[in-house]
Amino acid sequence: MNMKKEALSCDTVQKNIPKFIDNKLDSYDTLSFVEHVKNCKACAEELSVEYLVLVGVKRLDSASAFDLNKELAELIIRNEAKAKQKRRLSRIVFLAAIFFAIIGGYFVAEALIPGSIWPF
Ligand SMILES: [Zn+2]
Repeated sequence: MNMKKEALSCDTVQKNIPKFIDNKLDSYDTLSFVEHVKNCKACAEELSVEYLVLVGVKRLDSASAFDLNKELAELIIRNEAKAKQKRRLSRIVFLAAIFFAIIGGYFVAEALIPGSIWPF
């Protein structure tokens, strides 16, 4: 995962637009992407145009190419929510791993040298 903290450049954001639309970015990149697009008019417009092209063209024959901007707004909210949920989940897994490593450590030490750690 990309853990760089600095803001993304417009170039990077615009390169990631197709991946964002397909929800192929990892949660960190998704959150940086959404954060950038909310504050950068140029990238928001580029996202809107690419969304219309990528999604709209597929819909032309199915006659459902209506209100794509509303759909895009919903996609942004959905991807952002998924990314936040994924980050929360990975934090819980991380804490659980530490917890079980500590508990496991106690049992290993107790098995090797009985009475060394277990106080009872
Ligand atoms: Zn930008």
